[in-house]
Amino acid sequence: MSIIKKTAAELAELISSGEASAVEVAQAHLDRIAAVDDSVKAFVHVDPDVALAQARAVDDRKAAGETLGPLAGVPIAHKDVFTTADMPTTCSSKILEGWRPPYDATVTRRLREAGMVILGKTNMDEFAMGSSTENSAFGPTHNPWDLNTIPGGSSGGSSAAVAAYEAPLATGTDTGGSIRQPAAVTGLVGMKPTYGGSSRYGLIAFASSLDTPGPLARTVLDAALLHEAFSGHDPMDSTSIDQAVPPVVEAARRGDVAGLRIGVVKEFGGEGYQPGVLARFHEAVELLESLGAKVVEVSCPHFTYALPAYYLIAPSECSSNLARFDGMRYGLRVGDDGTRSAEEVMALTRAEGFGDEVKRRIMLGTYALSSGYYDAYYGKAQQVRTLIARDFDAAFEQVDVLVSPTTPTTAFPIGERADDPMAMYLADLCTIPSNLAGNAAISVPCGLADEDSLPVGLQIMAPVLADDRVYRVGAAIERALQDRWGGPLLAKAPEL
Ligand code: GLN
Repeated sequence: MSIIKKTAAELAELISSGEASAVEVAQAHLDRIAAVDDSVKAFVHVDPDVALAQARAVDDRKAAGETLGPLAGVPIAHKDVFTTADMPTTCSSKILEGWRPPYDATVTRRLREAGMVILGKTNMDEFAMGSSTENSAFGPTHNPWDLNTIPGGSSGGSSAAVAAYEAPLATGTDTGGSIRQPAAVTGLVGMKPTYGGSSRYGLIAFASSLDTPGPLARTVLDAALLHEAFSGHDPMDSTSIDQAVPPVVEAARRGDVAGLRIGVVKEFGGEGYQPGVLARFHEAVELLESLGAKVVEVSCPHFTYALPAYYLIAPSECSSNLARFDGMRYGLRVGDDGTRSAEEVMALTRAEGFGDEVKRRIMLGTYALSSGYYDAYYGKAQQVRTLIARDFDAAFEQVDVLVSPTTPTTAFPIGERADDPMAMYLADLCTIPSNLAGNAAISVPCGLADEDSLPVGLQIMAPVLADDRVYRVGAAIERALQDRWGGPLLAKAPEL
């Protein structure tokens, strides 16, 4: 099998045993990027020299007799929302054009410390606002399963890169579903860790109380290896949890559900869901039952209000976070010709630098936070958030994990929802509750929908800091489904 089709765990093994060099592995992926990225458009920046230098450093350490870590030499595609001292960081926004970060995000630093090879930065919805990667100033990314469809978003460059074998692993961030939804629609594994389990330092903020870095991968074990590599306490992030990372890799290796109680969320399913998505979801639930899990239906009545609450809380936080892009400090500056005031330059810069969706959110957020409306909108949304967290608490008294489809539909055609924000927002119907409550949630592939032969995701949710549990269930279902399919789901994707 060619190098690019190998999992991250297999590549690390080849490199540490000396059967392949890190340079050889990096080069194979750079060649693949050169061959297919003109049609996929997963990356906004690729730097072969920087990548190969990192790979060479791993080979040198190996030659010097050092024992390599579990992901040393493995290439990774890095979402362009994380700062990188040696590559530009744009958040796919025009307003950050030309900006060079002076420091590495904690996640970036930990990838480097793990000896991983950063191939480049991936496309995303501008400032992570979106579900399709169409809101990028650099144009859309294409889903390798069908180049006319979206790869999900906002981490759509990352999902497309991994699904197109341009990288075995990628980073993402999940504020309302931006790791799980892209993973679901491209046939990958995508994990949103417990909020505070992975550091936000150097992650350009969208909604600070929700933003969570996490892994995208082709297998549950690969996701767990990356999760472990970049997670854990960070004194530079005041909301970082000062506790050991849950044993995610061990759980991914174990993969069993015998005796586990699994709750099917009653509110997610039915009208508005694609029949093929529901069919694959119900089969997955039956499979879990046949593997020894005890399945019950659980009601989480406030989950229905998660979407409207999120679309008040996230824009409110973003309107405050994005105030720093004022034309003075970073990147773009428009109209500074010596005749205009700072306020005028600021207004011109923001008018030209931000895209429509970002402007929409800033307006929504400033409105919701304004003194006359704060209690009615933002305050009310925060109360709903508490009710959703309580629904989770009550559910987890009855069951160990909750499951649902990850998304109501499979990948939709590029352009279909671009002018209909409400339709776009629905893509995250099932993922948002876990962002509002901060608990762990993963999406694993569970088959192809009959209507369009596109991937469907199964979402598994666990309590705060029980991240290992979703890997345990995810690995069990992955193994059982691969037995059924005779290999990974991604093997069914058309050749690019
Ligand atoms: N699609 C959601 C939004 O547009 C979530 C984005 C995210 O998780 N970054 O806000």
